[in-house]
Amino acid sequence: MLQPFAAKMTNAGSSARMFASTVVTLGCAFLLLMAAGIGVVIAITREANRLEAQRQAERVETAFNAQIRLNELRLQSLTATGELPDALQEDDPKVALQAAFKRLRGQLVDFDGAYIASARGIVLAGTETDTQLVRSGAEGLRHLEAFLRGAKEFPVSVAVGEELLPQFGTTRSTIVRDGDETLMLTVVDLSRVVPFSAASMPETLFLIAYRHISTSLLAELSDRYRVADIRLVSAQPGDRLNGLALRGPDGTASGWLSWTPARPGDVMLHRFLWALIAVALLFSAIFIFVVQRLRAAAGQIELRERQIQRLAGQDELSLLPNRRSFDLTLDQTLADLQRDGQGLAVMLIDLDRFKAVNDTYGHTAGDELIRQVAARLVSATQAGGTVARIGGDEFGIIQTQATPAGCTALAERILARLTEPFIVMGIEVTIGCSIGIAMAPRDGKDREMLLRLADTALYQSKNSGRNRFAFFETQMNRSLQLKRMVEDDLRRAIENDELTLHYQPQVSVDGSTVVGVEALVRWPHPVHGMIPPSDFIAIAEERGLIMPLSEWVLRRACIEARRWSGVRLAVNVSPIQFRHKDFVANVIRIIEETDFDPAQLELELTEGVLIEDADAAETAMMDIRAHGVGLALDDFGTGYSSLIYLRRFAFDKIKIDRSFLEYMEATGESAILVHSMAHLGRALGLRVCAEGVETAEQHRFLQAIGCHELQGFLFSKAVPAHEIDRLLGLDNPFAEVLIAA
Ligand code: C2E
Ligand code: CA
Ligand code: CA
Repeated sequence: MLQPFAAKMTNAGSSARMFASTVVTLGCAFLLLMAAGIGVVIAITREANRLEAQRQAERVETAFNAQIRLNELRLQSLTATGELPDALQEDDPKVALQAAFKRLRGQLVDFDGAYIASARGIVLAGTETDTQLVRSGAEGLRHLEAFLRGAKEFPVSVAVGEELLPQFGTTRSTIVRDGDETLMLTVVDLSRVVPFSAASMPETLFLIAYRHISTSLLAELSDRYRVADIRLVSAQPGDRLNGLALRGPDGTASGWLSWTPARPGDVMLHRFLWALIAVALLFSAIFIFVVQRLRAAAGQIELRERQIQRLAGQDELSLLPNRRSFDLTLDQTLADLQRDGQGLAVMLIDLDRFKAVNDTYGHTAGDELIRQVAARLVSATQAGGTVARIGGDEFGIIQTQATPAGCTALAERILARLTEPFIVMGIEVTIGCSIGIAMAPRDGKDREMLLRLADTALYQSKNSGRNRFAFFETQMNRSLQLKRMVEDDLRRAIENDELTLHYQPQVSVDGSTVVGVEALVRWPHPVHGMIPPSDFIAIAEERGLIMPLSEWVLRRACIEARRWSGVRLAVNVSPIQFRHKDFVANVIRIIEETDFDPAQLELELTEGVLIEDADAAETAMMDIRAHGVGLALDDFGTGYSSLIYLRRFAFDKIKIDRSFLEYMEATGESAILVHSMAHLGRALGLRVCAEGVETAEQHRFLQAIGCHELQGFLFSKAVPAHEIDRLLGLDNPFAEVLIAA
C-alpha cells in the first residue's frame, strides 16, 4: 500500500529545484546584460573621447598652419605693394632697401620682427624692435641657413615683370628655436619680386619676418578653434595630453603644441550617469519582479503537486494514505468482508499533546513528529493492516482478519510505542494517544457507521483519562449521543419552556402529613423521553446555561406552589448560581414577581457553594435569610467538613444524604453515622430531614433517632404538580379543610 506513494515522493520539491535553477539562469543573464551594457557605455565614451581628441588635433594643426599661411600671405602682400620693388630700383641698393624697409615697417605690426638679408647672411635692413636680432646677424643667418637647408626646393629662379604677382608662392615658413623662444619664421625670396640687375644686387635677397609663438597667440588660437589651453611645451606631452610636433627645417621637433583634450565621452557619461543608474535600477526591479512572479508560480506548481498527491490519496507529510484513500480502502475492505466473512477493525488514534509540541517547538518540529509517529504506527501494525493519516494529529488503522484479542494486542503495542519519547530536532518530547476501536460486522457494517462508533469509543477513552484504548460499546453511544444532544438542544428547551417540574413530597416523621415539596426539574424530550436532571444540570453549568435554567425553575416552582399554602417549597441551588453576584437579588425579584411568600420558600444548598469563598457565601446567606427565605444543607454528610459549615453558617435544616440509608442495612457503620448526624442536627437546633427513604424499616429507624422530616420513594417519588394537588386534596372542594386538619 505504501510502496507507490514512496516512489512518487521523488517528484516532491522538483518545482523548488526548477525555480532555483531558473533564478540562477536569469540572474546570470541579468548580470551578463548589465556587464554588456556597462561595456558598451565605456566603449562609446572612449570612442567619443578619441574622436574628439583626433578632431581637436586636426583643428590645432589647421589653426597653426592657418596662422603660418596668414603670416605668409601678409608678407607676400607687403612685398607686392610695390614699395620694396621701387626701393630696389635705387642705385645704392643698401640705402634704398633701408629706406624702403622704413616705409614697410608700419605694416609689419603683425610680426615681432623682420629684416632683409642676403643669401650670404648679411643683414641689409631690419626693424628697430629687432635690433638685437639685427645685431646678432649671425643668429639671423642661422635661421636663414637652416631654412634654406630645409627648403631645398626653394625657388631661386627670377621671374619677370608682369609675371610677378602669380609668383606669390615664393614664400616659405618654418619653425625655429631661438634660445628659449620658438619662432614662426616666414621668408620671402625677393628675387621673385624684384628683378634685380646683376650689377646692383649680385646676391639673392630675402625678406625674413618672424613671430614668437607667444601665450597670447596661443590663447587666440585656443579661442578661435575651441581647443582648451593650447600651450607650448618642450617635451612630448603625456598620455592624457595631446600634442602637435613643431618641426624645424631639419625635421627635428623644435617644440610641441599641447592642449587639454576635451573628453565629450566623459562629459556625456557624467551627464547621463543618473539615467544609466536609473536604467540599471529599472532592470534590477524588473529582475526582482520576474523572480517574485517565478517564485509565486513555483509555489502554485508545488501546491498543485500537493493537490495531485492528495487526489492520488497520499498525505504529503507522513506519506501515509490520506483520509480519502483511507475511506476508499475501508469501503473496499468492507465489500470484501461481505464475501469472506472475516472480522475487520477500525482504529482511530488521536495524539495527545501534539498541539503543545507544535506550539512550543514550531511547525517543523510538529511535522517531524508526525513523520516519526507515522513510522512507529506502520511498524506496530501487522501485515494486512493499513495505516493512514486522517487528520492533523489523527491516524486511522484498518485491520483485516481482526479479533478482539488481536486488536487489544495491537492497541497495547501502539500505546507502548507512542508513549516512548521521540527525539525531534534534537529535543526529547513525550506525547500520548487515545485509541477508539470499532469492529465489523459486530458493531456496524458500513464505513460511516464504523467510523462514528470508533470515534465514540475514542471520545470515551479520552474522557476516561488519556493513554488508553476503548472498544465501542452500545451504552457509550447512548450517553455520548445524549450529551451531544443536550449540548445542542438545552438552550432552546429553556427558551421554549420545554422543561417541566416534578415535586417530591417531604412528609412529617410519622408519614401522615405533607409538610413540603422539593421541586426537581425534568426535560420531556420528544425523541429521548424524560431526561433526568443528572443528565443535563452539569452540562448546563459547563455551557453557561445554569442561570437561565435556575431562574426558570424558581419562577415556575413559585407560580405552581402558590396554591399549596402551608406546604414549604424546596428549590435546589447550583453552586455556580449561588456564586453569581446577583443571586440574592434575582431570588427576591422572582419571589416578588410571582407574589410568593418568602417564608414558604426553602433553598437547598450543597457544601460546594460554601467552599470557594466562605465569606461571600456567608454574606449571601445572611442576606437571603433576612428576607425570610429558609436554607437547607443538602446531601449532608457527603462533603468533607460538614460539621464546620454547620457551626458557621445559618442553616435551618440538614438533609442527610440518601447514600447513608442505601448502605444502612448492609453496614452497621452507616446506621451509627445517620444516628450521630441526626443527633448533631437536633443539638444545633436544626430540623433534620432524611432523604431516600425506601423501606418501612428505614422509616422506623429514622423515626426512632428523632428525624423531623422524611423524603423518599416510600412516601412518593417526584410527581407532576397536579399529582401534588391530588395528594393535598386540592382537586376536591374540601381540600383546604383537610390540610388544616
Ligand atoms: P437531590 O437534590 O438530592 O434530589 C433528590 C434526588 O433523589 C432526586 O433525583 C429524587 O428523585 C431522588 N430520590 C428521592 N427519593 C429517593 C429514594 O427513595 N430513592 C432514590 N434512589 N432516589 C430518591 P433527581 O430528581 O434525579 O435529581 C437529581 C439531582 O438533580 C438532585 O439531587 C439535585 O441535586 C439536582 N436537581 C434536580 N432539580 C434541580 C434544579 O431544579 N436545580 C438544581 N440546581 N439542581 C437540581
Ligand atoms: Ca435537593
Ligand atoms: Ca439531596
